[in-house]
Amino acid sequence: MKLHFTPHTLEFRYPFKIALNYRTTTPVVITEIMCDGIVGYGEASMPPYLGEDHKTVSDFLIKAGKVLAEFKTPFYLETIIDRVDIIAEGNTAAKASIDIALHDLKGKLEGRACYTFWNLEKENTPHTSITIGMDAPEVVGRKIGEAEVFKILKVKLGSDEDKKIIETIRSYTDKPVSVDVNQGWKTKEEALDLIHWLKEKNVLFVEQPLAKRDLAGSAWLTERSPLPVIADESFQRLADLTRIKDCFHGVNVKLMKCTGLNEAYKIIREAQKYDLKVLIGCMSETSCAVSAAAQLSSLADWADLDGPLLIKKDLFEGVEFSGGKIVLSDRPGIGVRRLQG
Ligand code: MG
Repeated sequence: MKLHFTPHTLEFRYPFKIALNYRTTTPVVITEIMCDGIVGYGEASMPPYLGEDHKTVSDFLIKAGKVLAEFKTPFYLETIIDRVDIIAEGNTAAKASIDIALHDLKGKLEGRACYTFWNLEKENTPHTSITIGMDAPEVVGRKIGEAEVFKILKVKLGSDEDKKIIETIRSYTDKPVSVDVNQGWKTKEEALDLIHWLKEKNVLFVEQPLAKRDLAGSAWLTERSPLPVIADESFQRLADLTRIKDCFHGVNVKLMKCTGLNEAYKIIREAQKYDLKVLIGCMSETSCAVSAAAQLSSLADWADLDGPLLIKKDLFEGVEFSGGKIVLSDRPGIGVRRLQG
């Protein structure tokens, strides 16, 4: 098999606030794996906190291309993925771009959608939340209006303005809200007070309230919190699960953190054994990687797959949202079509 890849830069529709920094773009790399004239598509998206960028992904993919050249088809999927995984540590987004393209290719060669690999049903998909970025109150009102068809909103907290932000949202809508703190709250006591307050504001769960390494604090909070506390930055791969399973009520599974669909499926099944809630999430991604994640979404308690909705120009068409509910395409593989330009 042959591997091609191209770097792109996605522009956000609105500046995106991560912790204290505003970002207006995010780097991605689109991969293509070819077999018998058929192309499987994949994508790596690189948020700064995971330490990957265009250069590290390109360097890794050059090495991965040599591994792929040894295989004629994607059918020994696990073997290929294991070989790619041991090329180097980390590089999880680069690895995910290979995993996604291999799944897409296998589905296309077999003429079936990827969700059928795990005997999942197309109909059981959840609703996605959509992020409402913070802004002047009237702009927030406009964004909530634009997101009218979506049933769950997501808000990023973690500043002195948290209560004001929620009050602003609540002045426009009573819809359920999920909260992502991105490690922004300083102490577990402050976090618990805020979570009690949020509980009265129709909030569904709170993602990563404390610093990623503060597992003792997270465990203390999880024991007392009236809302589910979900690990995002504290949790990346399957091997992390045993370490954090008693410190949170659930985990945010993202393809870019865990190297792709193959491992994401194993994480979800393992998490369910521990009675952990599962949120399936994404980075800033096109409809390529999000259509891949959507293949597993029927297994999740909640989905946060709004990546393609927050960028100016998508590079693919694929998964759709009907009244916010995830609708998988009938096309084989991950169900995407490359858009021109
Ligand atoms: Mg998060």
